Amino acid sequence: MIGAVDVIVAKRDGHRLTDAQIDWVVAAHTRGEVADEQMAALAMAILLNGMDAAETARWTLAMIESGERLALPDVGRPLVDKHSTGGVGDKITLVLAPLAAACGLAVPQLSGRGLGHTGGTLDKLEAIPGWRAELSADEIAAQLVEVGAVVCATTPTLAPADRRLYALRDVTGTVPSVPLIASSIMSKKIAGGARGLVLDVKVGSGAFMPTPAAARELATRMVEIGALHDLPTRAVLTDMSVPLGRTAGNALEVAEAVEVLRGGGPADVRELTLALAREMLDLAGLAADPAALLDSGVAHGVWERMIAAQGGDPTAPLPVASSVTTVEAEASGFFRPDALAVGTAAWRLGAGRARKEDGVQAAAGVRLLHDVGTSVRAGEPLLELHTDTPEALDGARSALAAAPMVSSEPFPGRDLVLESVGSPSSEP
Ligand code: URA
Repeated sequence: MIGAVDVIVAKRDGHRLTDAQIDWVVAAHTRGEVADEQMAALAMAILLNGMDAAETARWTLAMIESGERLALPDVGRPLVDKHSTGGVGDKITLVLAPLAAACGLAVPQLSGRGLGHTGGTLDKLEAIPGWRAELSADEIAAQLVEVGAVVCATTPTLAPADRRLYALRDVTGTVPSVPLIASSIMSKKIAGGARGLVLDVKVGSGAFMPTPAAARELATRMVEIGALHDLPTRAVLTDMSVPLGRTAGNALEVAEAVEVLRGGGPADVRELTLALAREMLDLAGLAADPAALLDSGVAHGVWERMIAAQGGDPTAPLPVASSVTTVEAEASGFFRPDALAVGTAAWRLGAGRARKEDGVQAAAGVRLLHDVGTSVRAGEPLLELHTDTPEALDGARSALAAAPMVSSEPFPGRDLVLESVGSPSSEP
Protein backbone atom coordinates (compact mmCIF):
# COMPACT_ATOMS: atom_id res chain seq x y z
CA MET A 1 0.00 0.00 0.00
CA ILE A 2 1.47 3.38 -1.02
CA GLY A 3 0.56 6.44 1.03
CA ALA A 4 0.99 10.13 0.20
CA VAL A 5 3.04 10.79 3.33
CA ASP A 6 5.51 8.01 2.44
CA VAL A 7 6.03 9.48 -1.01
CA ILE A 8 6.55 12.99 0.40
CA VAL A 9 8.98 11.73 3.05
CA ALA A 10 10.95 9.71 0.47
CA LYS A 11 11.50 12.79 -1.70
CA ARG A 12 12.03 15.07 1.29
CA ASP A 13 14.87 12.78 2.38
CA GLY A 14 16.45 12.83 -1.07
CA HIS A 15 15.49 9.37 -2.35
CA ARG A 16 14.43 8.39 -5.85
CA LEU A 17 10.72 7.78 -6.26
CA THR A 18 9.79 4.35 -7.62
CA ASP A 19 7.66 3.98 -10.75
CA ALA A 20 4.84 2.65 -8.57
CA GLN A 21 5.02 5.66 -6.23
CA ILE A 22 4.97 8.09 -9.15
CA ASP A 23 2.09 6.36 -10.95
CA TRP A 24 0.06 6.21 -7.78
CA VAL A 25 0.61 9.74 -6.51
CA VAL A 26 -0.10 11.43 -9.86
CA ALA A 27 -3.25 9.36 -10.45
CA ALA A 28 -4.48 9.70 -6.86
CA HIS A 29 -4.03 13.48 -6.89
CA THR A 30 -5.95 13.71 -10.17
CA ARG A 31 -8.78 11.67 -8.61
CA GLY A 32 -8.75 13.96 -5.54
CA GLU A 33 -7.55 11.22 -3.18
CA VAL A 34 -4.22 12.92 -2.50
CA ALA A 35 -4.97 16.34 -0.99
CA ASP A 36 -3.68 19.52 -2.61
CA GLU A 37 -1.56 20.31 0.46
CA GLN A 38 0.13 16.92 0.19
CA MET A 39 0.83 17.37 -3.50
CA ALA A 40 2.14 20.88 -2.81
CA ALA A 41 4.51 19.46 -0.19
CA LEU A 42 5.71 16.86 -2.68
CA ALA A 43 6.19 19.54 -5.36
CA MET A 44 8.37 21.50 -2.92
CA ALA A 45 10.39 18.37 -2.07
CA ILE A 46 10.90 17.80 -5.82
CA LEU A 47 11.90 21.43 -6.34
CA LEU A 48 14.49 21.14 -3.56
CA ASN A 49 15.79 17.59 -4.18
CA GLY A 50 15.10 17.11 -7.89
CA MET A 51 14.13 14.06 -9.92
CA ASP A 52 16.54 12.23 -12.19
CA ALA A 53 15.91 11.63 -15.89
CA ALA A 54 14.15 8.29 -15.33
CA GLU A 55 11.88 9.68 -12.60
CA THR A 56 11.02 12.68 -14.77
CA ALA A 57 10.20 10.43 -17.72
CA ARG A 58 7.92 8.30 -15.52
CA TRP A 59 6.26 11.39 -14.02
CA THR A 60 5.58 12.63 -17.56
CA LEU A 61 4.05 9.29 -18.54
CA ALA A 62 1.83 9.31 -15.45
CA MET A 63 0.58 12.80 -16.35
CA ILE A 64 -0.16 11.72 -19.93
CA GLU A 65 -2.01 8.64 -18.66
CA SER A 66 -4.14 10.83 -16.36
CA GLY A 67 -6.20 11.79 -19.43
CA GLU A 68 -6.70 11.09 -23.10
CA ARG A 69 -4.45 11.61 -26.06
CA LEU A 70 -5.71 13.78 -28.89
CA ALA A 71 -5.77 11.44 -31.88
CA LEU A 72 -5.10 13.79 -34.79
CA PRO A 73 -5.88 12.25 -38.18
CA ASP A 74 -3.47 12.35 -41.09
CA VAL A 75 -3.94 15.91 -42.34
CA GLY A 76 -1.74 15.50 -45.38
CA ARG A 77 1.13 17.62 -44.01
CA PRO A 78 3.77 17.04 -41.31
CA LEU A 79 2.33 17.91 -37.89
CA VAL A 80 4.94 19.99 -36.08
CA ASP A 81 4.27 21.99 -32.94
CA LYS A 82 6.23 24.70 -31.13
CA HIS A 83 6.24 25.62 -27.48
CA SER A 84 7.87 28.42 -25.54
CA THR A 85 8.71 28.15 -21.86
CA GLY A 86 7.32 31.66 -21.41
CA GLY A 87 8.75 35.13 -21.75
CA VAL A 88 7.98 38.85 -21.88
CA GLY A 89 6.66 40.20 -25.19
CA ASP A 90 6.78 36.67 -26.61
CA LYS A 91 4.30 36.92 -29.46
CA ILE A 92 6.29 34.53 -31.64
CA THR A 93 3.53 31.89 -31.90
CA LEU A 94 1.17 34.43 -33.45
CA VAL A 95 3.55 34.85 -36.37
CA LEU A 96 5.12 31.40 -36.41
CA ALA A 97 1.98 29.24 -36.55
CA PRO A 98 0.62 30.82 -39.77
CA LEU A 99 4.11 31.13 -41.22
CA ALA A 100 4.88 27.44 -40.64
CA ALA A 101 1.52 26.54 -42.21
CA ALA A 102 2.36 28.77 -45.19
CA CYS A 103 5.59 26.75 -45.51
CA GLY A 104 3.69 23.44 -45.74
CA LEU A 105 3.52 22.27 -42.13
CA ALA A 106 0.42 21.67 -40.01
CA VAL A 107 0.71 23.29 -36.57
CA PRO A 108 -1.58 21.96 -33.82
CA GLN A 109 -0.81 24.33 -31.00
CA LEU A 110 -2.73 23.71 -27.78
CA SER A 111 -1.89 26.70 -25.63
CA GLY A 112 -2.39 28.13 -22.17
CA ARG A 113 -3.36 31.39 -20.56
CA GLY A 114 -0.71 33.53 -18.92
CA LEU A 115 0.09 33.38 -15.26
CA GLY A 116 2.38 35.79 -13.44
CA HIS A 117 4.61 38.10 -15.47
CA THR A 118 4.71 35.94 -18.63
CA GLY A 119 1.90 36.42 -21.12
CA GLY A 120 -0.30 33.64 -22.46
CA THR A 121 -0.95 33.11 -26.14
CA LEU A 122 -4.70 32.60 -25.64
CA ASP A 123 -5.01 35.88 -23.73
CA LYS A 124 -3.34 37.64 -26.65
CA LEU A 125 -5.59 36.10 -29.28
CA GLU A 126 -8.69 36.78 -27.19
CA ALA A 127 -7.96 40.50 -27.68
CA ILE A 128 -9.23 39.99 -31.25
CA PRO A 129 -12.98 40.64 -31.39
CA GLY A 130 -14.95 37.39 -31.72
CA TRP A 131 -11.99 34.97 -31.47
CA ARG A 132 -12.75 31.79 -29.57
CA ALA A 133 -10.16 29.59 -27.84
CA GLU A 134 -12.20 26.45 -27.16
CA LEU A 135 -12.42 24.01 -30.04
CA SER A 136 -13.53 20.38 -30.17
CA ALA A 137 -11.16 17.67 -31.38
CA ASP A 138 -13.09 17.54 -34.68
CA GLU A 139 -12.81 21.30 -35.15
CA ILE A 140 -9.06 21.15 -34.51
CA ALA A 141 -8.65 18.41 -37.11
CA ALA A 142 -10.81 20.23 -39.68
CA GLN A 143 -8.89 23.50 -39.21
CA LEU A 144 -5.57 21.72 -39.62
CA VAL A 145 -6.73 20.39 -42.98
CA GLU A 146 -8.31 23.65 -44.17
CA VAL A 147 -5.91 26.27 -42.80
CA GLY A 148 -2.84 24.35 -41.59
CA ALA A 149 -2.61 26.07 -38.20
CA VAL A 150 -4.66 25.98 -35.01
CA VAL A 151 -3.90 27.82 -31.79
CA CYS A 152 -6.51 26.90 -29.20
CA ALA A 153 -7.07 25.95 -25.57
CA THR A 154 -5.97 22.54 -24.35
CA THR A 155 -8.97 20.25 -23.99
CA PRO A 156 -10.02 19.38 -20.40
CA THR A 157 -9.21 15.70 -20.96
CA LEU A 158 -5.61 16.35 -21.97
CA ALA A 159 -3.15 15.73 -19.09
CA PRO A 160 -5.64 16.78 -16.36
CA ALA A 161 -2.97 15.92 -13.76
CA ASP A 162 -0.92 18.84 -15.05
CA ARG A 163 -3.81 21.28 -14.79
CA ARG A 164 -4.30 20.47 -11.09
CA LEU A 165 -0.61 20.42 -10.30
CA TYR A 166 0.28 23.57 -12.23
CA ALA A 167 -2.36 25.58 -10.37
CA LEU A 168 -0.86 24.39 -7.08
CA ARG A 169 2.71 25.10 -8.15
CA ASP A 170 1.76 28.58 -9.16
CA VAL A 171 0.62 29.48 -5.65
CA THR A 172 3.34 27.58 -3.74
CA GLY A 173 6.52 28.90 -5.35
CA THR A 174 7.22 25.57 -7.05
CA VAL A 175 7.09 26.52 -10.73
CA PRO A 176 10.85 26.84 -11.40
CA SER A 177 11.81 23.17 -11.06
CA VAL A 178 13.42 21.52 -14.10
CA PRO A 179 11.69 18.12 -13.73
CA LEU A 180 8.30 19.71 -12.99
CA ILE A 181 8.48 22.15 -15.93
CA ALA A 182 9.82 19.46 -18.29
CA SER A 183 7.10 16.96 -17.40
CA SER A 184 4.37 19.63 -17.44
CA ILE A 185 5.23 20.84 -20.92
CA MET A 186 6.04 17.47 -22.45
CA SER A 187 2.98 15.65 -21.07
CA LYS A 188 0.72 18.20 -22.77
CA LYS A 189 2.68 18.19 -26.00
CA ILE A 190 2.85 14.39 -26.24
CA ALA A 191 -0.85 14.04 -25.42
CA GLY A 192 -1.59 16.82 -27.96
CA GLY A 193 -0.77 14.63 -30.93
CA ALA A 194 2.09 16.48 -32.67
CA ARG A 195 4.65 14.35 -34.52
CA GLY A 196 7.51 16.82 -34.09
CA LEU A 197 8.22 19.59 -31.58
CA VAL A 198 10.46 22.65 -31.44
CA LEU A 199 10.93 24.17 -28.00
CA ASP A 200 11.92 27.78 -27.36
CA VAL A 201 13.59 27.67 -23.95
CA LYS A 202 13.93 31.19 -22.64
CA VAL A 203 16.96 32.29 -20.62
CA GLY A 204 17.28 35.47 -18.57
CA SER A 205 15.54 37.65 -16.03
CA GLY A 206 12.15 37.41 -17.76
CA ALA A 207 12.23 33.59 -17.96
CA PHE A 208 11.67 30.77 -15.48
CA MET A 209 15.29 29.70 -16.11
CA PRO A 210 17.58 32.66 -15.38
CA THR A 211 20.89 30.99 -16.37
CA PRO A 212 22.01 29.18 -19.55
CA ALA A 213 23.04 26.15 -17.45
CA ALA A 214 19.54 25.74 -15.99
CA ALA A 215 17.91 26.34 -19.38
CA ARG A 216 20.25 23.78 -21.00
CA GLU A 217 19.32 21.21 -18.38
CA LEU A 218 15.61 21.86 -18.97
CA ALA A 219 16.06 21.68 -22.75
CA THR A 220 18.03 18.43 -22.53
CA ARG A 221 15.47 16.84 -20.24
CA MET A 222 12.61 17.75 -22.60
CA VAL A 223 14.46 16.51 -25.69
CA GLU A 224 15.12 13.19 -23.89
CA ILE A 225 11.46 12.83 -22.90
CA GLY A 226 10.39 13.54 -26.48
CA ALA A 227 12.73 10.81 -27.76
CA LEU A 228 11.33 8.29 -25.27
CA HIS A 229 7.82 8.99 -26.57
CA ASP A 230 8.64 8.97 -30.30
CA LEU A 231 8.16 12.72 -30.51
CA PRO A 232 11.23 14.12 -32.30
CA THR A 233 12.06 17.23 -30.28
CA ARG A 234 14.57 20.02 -30.68
CA ALA A 235 15.16 22.94 -28.36
CA VAL A 236 16.73 26.32 -28.84
CA LEU A 237 17.88 28.46 -25.92
CA THR A 238 16.94 32.08 -26.57
CA ASP A 239 17.65 35.32 -24.75
CA MET A 240 14.99 36.76 -22.45
CA SER A 241 17.01 39.39 -20.59
CA VAL A 242 15.20 42.22 -22.39
CA PRO A 243 11.64 42.03 -23.81
CA LEU A 244 11.04 40.61 -27.28
CA GLY A 245 9.96 43.32 -29.67
CA ARG A 246 8.56 46.60 -28.46
CA THR A 247 5.35 45.50 -26.74
CA ALA A 248 4.19 43.40 -23.78
CA GLY A 249 0.42 43.07 -23.40
CA ASN A 250 -2.33 41.33 -25.29
CA ALA A 251 -3.74 43.65 -28.00
CA LEU A 252 -0.42 45.50 -28.23
CA GLU A 253 1.34 42.23 -29.03
CA VAL A 254 -1.27 41.15 -31.57
CA ALA A 255 -0.79 44.45 -33.44
CA GLU A 256 2.98 43.96 -33.42
CA ALA A 257 2.69 40.36 -34.63
CA VAL A 258 0.52 41.55 -37.54
CA GLU A 259 3.23 44.09 -38.46
CA VAL A 260 5.73 41.22 -38.64
CA LEU A 261 3.27 39.14 -40.69
CA ARG A 262 3.13 42.07 -43.11
CA GLY A 263 6.91 41.94 -43.55
CA GLY A 264 7.76 44.74 -41.06
CA GLY A 265 7.84 44.92 -37.26
CA PRO A 266 10.76 44.64 -34.85
CA ALA A 267 13.86 42.86 -36.17
CA ASP A 268 14.23 40.57 -33.14
CA VAL A 269 10.67 39.20 -33.43
CA ARG A 270 11.20 38.53 -37.13
CA GLU A 271 14.64 36.96 -36.57
CA LEU A 272 13.50 34.58 -33.83
CA THR A 273 10.35 33.59 -35.74
CA LEU A 274 12.43 32.73 -38.81
CA ALA A 275 14.97 30.77 -36.74
CA LEU A 276 12.19 28.68 -35.15
CA ALA A 277 10.42 28.21 -38.51
CA ARG A 278 13.66 26.86 -39.98
CA GLU A 279 14.02 24.40 -37.08
CA MET A 280 10.44 23.20 -37.59
CA LEU A 281 10.95 22.76 -41.33
CA ASP A 282 14.26 20.99 -40.85
CA LEU A 283 12.71 18.64 -38.31
CA ALA A 284 10.00 17.73 -40.84
CA GLY A 285 12.46 17.48 -43.73
CA LEU A 286 10.74 20.25 -45.72
CA ALA A 287 12.58 22.83 -47.79
CA ALA A 288 10.82 26.20 -47.90
CA ASP A 289 11.98 29.78 -47.49
CA PRO A 290 10.07 31.26 -44.51
CA ALA A 291 11.48 34.76 -45.07
CA ALA A 292 10.04 34.83 -48.59
CA LEU A 293 6.64 33.61 -47.37
CA LEU A 294 6.60 36.33 -44.73
CA ASP A 295 7.58 39.08 -47.16
CA SER A 296 5.16 37.96 -49.88
CA GLY A 297 2.12 38.22 -47.57
CA VAL A 298 1.32 34.49 -47.86
CA ALA A 299 1.78 33.98 -44.10
CA HIS A 300 -0.45 36.99 -43.42
CA GLY A 301 -3.17 35.39 -45.54
CA VAL A 302 -2.95 32.20 -43.44
CA TRP A 303 -3.19 34.33 -40.27
CA GLU A 304 -6.43 35.93 -41.50
CA ARG A 305 -7.91 32.52 -42.26
CA MET A 306 -6.69 31.07 -38.95
CA ILE A 307 -8.34 33.89 -36.98
CA ALA A 308 -11.57 33.83 -39.02
CA ALA A 309 -11.85 30.02 -38.64
CA GLN A 310 -12.14 30.58 -34.87
CA GLY A 311 -14.77 33.31 -35.15
CA GLY A 312 -12.35 36.25 -35.00
CA ASP A 313 -12.42 39.30 -37.25
CA PRO A 314 -8.82 39.90 -38.32
CA THR A 315 -9.72 43.32 -39.74
CA ALA A 316 -11.56 44.62 -36.64
CA PRO A 317 -9.86 47.39 -34.66
CA LEU A 318 -8.14 46.07 -31.53
CA PRO A 319 -9.14 47.38 -28.09
CA VAL A 320 -7.37 50.57 -26.98
CA ALA A 321 -6.67 51.44 -23.32
CA SER A 322 -8.50 54.37 -21.75
CA SER A 323 -5.30 55.59 -20.04
CA VAL A 324 -1.89 55.90 -21.70
CA THR A 325 0.96 57.55 -19.80
CA THR A 326 4.69 57.70 -20.36
CA VAL A 327 7.69 56.90 -18.19
CA GLU A 328 10.70 59.16 -18.64
CA ALA A 329 14.42 58.42 -18.40
CA GLU A 330 15.94 59.40 -15.05
CA ALA A 331 19.40 59.63 -16.55
CA SER A 332 21.06 59.78 -19.94
CA GLY A 333 22.60 56.59 -21.33
CA PHE A 334 21.60 53.51 -23.29
CA PHE A 335 18.06 52.11 -23.16
CA ARG A 336 18.11 48.65 -21.60
CA PRO A 337 14.75 47.69 -20.07
CA ASP A 338 14.81 44.55 -17.92
CA ALA A 339 12.47 41.81 -19.15
CA LEU A 340 11.16 40.89 -15.70
CA ALA A 341 10.51 44.54 -14.77
CA VAL A 342 8.57 45.18 -18.01
CA GLY A 343 6.67 41.88 -17.69
CA THR A 344 5.70 42.65 -14.11
CA ALA A 345 4.60 46.18 -15.06
CA ALA A 346 2.43 44.87 -17.91
CA TRP A 347 0.92 42.28 -15.60
CA ARG A 348 0.11 44.87 -12.93
CA LEU A 349 -1.43 47.17 -15.53
CA GLY A 350 -3.96 44.39 -16.18
CA ALA A 351 -2.40 42.38 -19.02
CA GLY A 352 -1.91 39.35 -16.78
CA ARG A 353 -3.68 37.69 -13.89
CA ALA A 354 -2.72 37.17 -10.26
CA ARG A 355 -4.97 34.12 -9.86
CA LYS A 356 -6.08 31.59 -12.44
CA GLU A 357 -9.70 32.68 -12.24
CA ASP A 358 -8.96 36.41 -12.81
CA GLY A 359 -9.71 38.09 -16.14
CA VAL A 360 -7.24 40.14 -18.17
CA GLN A 361 -7.54 43.52 -19.87
CA ALA A 362 -7.12 43.16 -23.63
CA ALA A 363 -5.67 46.65 -24.05
CA ALA A 364 -3.32 46.82 -21.04
CA GLY A 365 0.44 46.60 -21.38
CA VAL A 366 3.72 48.34 -22.01
CA ARG A 367 5.08 49.79 -25.24
CA LEU A 368 8.80 50.47 -25.56
CA LEU A 369 9.36 53.76 -27.37
CA HIS A 370 12.92 52.92 -28.49
CA ASP A 371 14.86 49.92 -29.65
CA VAL A 372 16.99 48.36 -26.93
CA GLY A 373 20.46 49.92 -26.96
CA THR A 374 19.31 53.33 -28.28
CA SER A 375 21.05 56.34 -26.72
CA VAL A 376 18.51 58.35 -24.67
CA ARG A 377 18.62 61.62 -22.71
CA ALA A 378 17.39 62.24 -19.16
CA GLY A 379 13.71 63.28 -19.23
CA GLU A 380 13.04 61.63 -22.60
CA PRO A 381 9.98 59.29 -22.68
CA LEU A 382 11.08 55.64 -22.66
CA LEU A 383 7.87 53.65 -22.30
CA GLU A 384 4.11 53.97 -22.58
CA LEU A 385 1.93 52.35 -19.92
CA HIS A 386 -1.52 51.32 -21.19
CA THR A 387 -4.36 50.44 -18.82
CA ASP A 388 -8.10 50.72 -18.21
CA THR A 389 -7.44 50.88 -14.45
CA PRO A 390 -5.25 53.95 -13.76
CA GLU A 391 -5.06 52.96 -10.08
CA ALA A 392 -2.69 50.22 -11.27
CA LEU A 393 -0.12 52.76 -12.49
CA ASP A 394 1.73 53.10 -9.17
CA GLY A 395 2.30 49.35 -8.97
CA ALA A 396 3.55 49.29 -12.55
CA ARG A 397 5.91 52.20 -11.97
CA SER A 398 7.35 50.56 -8.86
CA ALA A 399 7.94 47.32 -10.82
CA LEU A 400 9.87 49.34 -13.41
CA ALA A 401 11.85 51.12 -10.71
CA ALA A 402 13.21 47.73 -9.50
CA ALA A 403 15.73 47.63 -12.36
CA PRO A 404 17.41 50.63 -14.06
CA MET A 405 16.10 51.12 -17.59
CA VAL A 406 19.06 53.16 -18.74
CA SER A 407 22.62 51.86 -18.60
CA SER A 408 25.80 53.91 -18.78
CA GLU A 409 27.37 51.08 -20.79
CA PRO A 410 26.59 50.76 -24.52
CA PHE A 411 24.39 47.71 -25.25
CA PRO A 412 26.76 45.03 -26.60
CA GLY A 413 24.05 43.59 -28.88
CA ARG A 414 22.15 40.43 -28.33
CA ASP A 415 22.53 36.89 -29.55
CA LEU A 416 18.87 35.91 -29.72
CA VAL A 417 19.53 32.21 -30.28
CA LEU A 418 22.13 31.13 -27.73
CA GLU A 419 22.41 27.42 -28.56
CA SER A 420 20.49 24.40 -29.83
CA VAL A 421 19.82 21.08 -28.12
CA GLY A 422 18.76 17.99 -30.03
CA SER A 423 19.34 19.17 -33.59
CA PRO A 424 21.82 17.16 -35.71
CA SER A 425 24.22 20.14 -35.78
CA SER A 426 24.20 20.45 -31.95
CA GLU A 427 25.39 16.89 -31.37
CA PRO A 428 29.01 16.59 -30.23
N1 URA B 1 4.75 26.07 -18.92
C1 URA B 1 4.09 24.91 -18.62
O1 URA B 1 3.24 24.46 -19.38
N2 URA B 1 4.40 24.28 -17.49
C2 URA B 1 5.35 24.73 -16.63
O2 URA B 1 5.59 24.09 -15.63
C3 URA B 1 6.02 25.94 -16.93
C4 URA B 1 5.71 26.59 -18.10
